[in-house]
Amino acid sequence: EKATALQATTSAGELTDPALPQNDLLYRLFHEDGVRVFDAAPLDNACTCSADKVRGILSTFSAEEIESMAVEGVISVTCQFCSAAYDFPAAAVQG
Ligand SMILES: [Zn+2]
Repeated sequence: EKATALQATTSAGELTDPALPQNDLLYRLFHEDGVRVFDAAPLDNACTCSADKVRGILSTFSAEEIESMAVEGVISVTCQFCSAAYDFPAAAVQG
């Protein structure tokens, strides 16, 4: 709660000020409790979804649920993380 309250005092100008290094802002906000900064790690856009995983998830649904999800005999699944689209014949995923 304290960290949230302190963070809330940050202005948009402080967050976008190129002359204010991130670590300086962290120190400004949290120096009373101590600030520890870890090495930066690059972000990687790598979703781990796959047709096999989606098929595995679908296999946990009942035949009635599979039937209700199918449109013209096809179940379409879109990964909410990477937007990959997968189509399965409903008959192929019914356990
Ligand atoms: Zn994905």
